[in-house]
Amino acid sequence: MSLVQSVESKAVYMGRLSHGCDLLMELTKICEEKSITLGKITAIGAVKKAVLGYYNTDKFEYEDHIINEPMELLNLTGNVSLKDGKTMVHCHVTLSDKSGKALGGHLFPETIVFACEYIIEKFDGNKLSREFDKETGLALWPVDKS
Ligand code: ZN
Repeated sequence: MSLVQSVESKAVYMGRLSHGCDLLMELTKICEEKSITLGKITAIGAVKKAVLGYYNTDKFEYEDHIINEPMELLNLTGNVSLKDGKTMVHCHVTLSDKSGKALGGHLFPETIVFACEYIIEKFDGNKLSREFDKETGLALWPVDKS
């Protein structure tokens, strides 16, 4: 059975990340500082370079894509939950190059901000903790296996 739970919006934060910071690490730091362990993130802006992942579902491992050029950050969508009792931010991004072509993937550290405007929403609700899932090899939210 799929997991379904209701959450309530508790607070919404919006702001701008500093030039040159690490996109994923900075969003994680803000969530930790604001005690957000359940939430939603969106952002737009531009990056100086990016490290994205593609999950190879046959090999059960991420393949990294390192993009060493400035890209537009068309969209970042993410969620916040717990893994091993700590805040974990999981984001996917869509980027575009100077010709307007888009690519995207799972956001890894070492993606460096040129400019970024974010909105983070904090939820109240049952905590969500990631657990190792053997069907996918990923740390996912639990589902009812009965
Ligand atoms: Zn992902």
